[in-house]
Amino acid sequence: MQSILPLPTQPIKPGTSTGQNFWPTETTSSHQPLASYSPADGQLIARVHVSTRADYDRVVETAQTAFAEWRLVPAPRRGEIVRQMGEQFRRYKRELGTLVSYEMGKSLQEGLGEVQEIIDICDFAVGQSRQLYGLSMHSERPAHRMLEQWHPLGIVGVISAFNFPVAVWSWNAMIAWVCGDVCIWKPSEKTPLTALACQQIIGEVLRNNDVPEGVSCLVTGGHDAGEWLARDPRVALVSATGSTRMGKAVAEAVAGRLGKSLLELGGNNAIIVSEHADLDLAIPAIVFGAVGTAGQRCTTTRRIIVQESIYDDVKNRLKKAYAQLRIGNPLDESFHVGPVIDQQAVNGYLVTVNEIRELGGRFVVEPGVIDGLGFESGCYVRPCIAEAKNSWPVVQRETFAPILYLLKYTTLEDAISQQNGVPQGLSSAIFTLNLREAERFLSMAGSDCGIANVNIGTSGAEIGGAFGGEKETGGGRESGSDAWKAYMRRQTNTINYGTTMPLAQGITFEL
Ligand code: NAD
Repeated sequence: MQSILPLPTQPIKPGTSTGQNFWPTETTSSHQPLASYSPADGQLIARVHVSTRADYDRVVETAQTAFAEWRLVPAPRRGEIVRQMGEQFRRYKRELGTLVSYEMGKSLQEGLGEVQEIIDICDFAVGQSRQLYGLSMHSERPAHRMLEQWHPLGIVGVISAFNFPVAVWSWNAMIAWVCGDVCIWKPSEKTPLTALACQQIIGEVLRNNDVPEGVSCLVTGGHDAGEWLARDPRVALVSATGSTRMGKAVAEAVAGRLGKSLLELGGNNAIIVSEHADLDLAIPAIVFGAVGTAGQRCTTTRRIIVQESIYDDVKNRLKKAYAQLRIGNPLDESFHVGPVIDQQAVNGYLVTVNEIRELGGRFVVEPGVIDGLGFESGCYVRPCIAEAKNSWPVVQRETFAPILYLLKYTTLEDAISQQNGVPQGLSSAIFTLNLREAERFLSMAGSDCGIANVNIGTSGAEIGGAFGGEKETGGGRESGSDAWKAYMRRQTNTINYGTTMPLAQGITFEL
């Protein structure tokens, strides 16, 4: 295992910022340090200090001071700094990708892919820095000009989940920075090291460019550190990625102070497989979607809804494909599936498996926890497939593990109704070569998700599009398209360059 961080004997201290002063000189933390264990082999990688409330307040004050300066830096210049960060991530792609794989447990290819997403969003953000466009409007009054401008918001709090320990931060931070905001990142307590590594990687760029201390900040800890951000009126926007339970708590806290929130929460993604599907495309897309990252992507394929005439064929093909899956250490590229994040995730998998059995669900591919040589961490579970009913409570909720539900449909109406018939609304797909079916699925009467695909699976997305979902997925949009607008405040300006004072709506007011 190649690591970009030395494996320390003392707990690592989180940075108050990453400008000139990456590591704080002192931490006042009395909390227990966070222990980062690798689910790959169960080894303790490092201990990381937890930020105290005093650390947090110091970080916020530094960020506030930095914002006053950073917002005045021309946006294309901010873009140039983000471009240099992209170069740094290119330089450290293998090392950071390896650490992501080792700390989080996703395959090395997926770890490298996650760093590639950072590189891609840096490229995107550089272009965006020259395109923070506002509209101009024709005024109804003579000799008046109307326009809108987009101004930076201030401090953006980024709360991230364990499963994309670095990419989600970058989708937020790179865009927020070109928009003129400063960021405070609260990474998942399950993956603190990858966050520290990112801060270290960009630290050099920040120092070389004399970026004010506090533009990029990090606080570590569990939900309480996330709650500080959510409740803090000094934090203009809280962008939170994680479970729907967390999103509801954050939404309530932020709304209570009338702040802005951007929520990227759980999914329950389905693929409809029509009798007109090309199964040579559909089967690999389903398998990758269901077992990739051991079923721990927000876009993981959790349900497949198959037309009854091809149901048995699809079931048999999936059985055959699952029999070929190789499960093992994520750093060994010959394995398809790595571990889930920890024992808690294994328990969640087992609870759901039991619930499926109690409901009378039949396993087409059997579940199980794997033990023995190479599986000492206890975090390796078998990807499984269960025949189920969409209405079952267990199917209605997201279990963050490789469990795929096989459902049957008769008409396309029925398929779309099952696809939409869950509380979440992130990603969806249909496999069909029938144009009418595809267009019906994409229409306003089709999928109700933020992402709807034709002949590709639900899992993963390109950074160029706006990413996010509806209903209990939270409604937020990140990354590409015009997602940048969430990180800025819109100001409408009207300028009178005439010699009279006409009022809007035709009102006259004689003095
Ligand atoms: P989680 O909700 O347990 O934790 C996510 C983050 O929220 C962590 O940093 C945690 O410390 C923090 N947190 C927890 N409770 C909080 C509270 N009350 N206030 C403020 N912060 C709080 O999620 P997880 O287990 O790390 O990640 C898995 C979940 O994330 C899944 O539901 C998955 O679908 C979702 N996810 C969604 C997306 C998306 O873009 N829609 C992307 C990745 C993951």
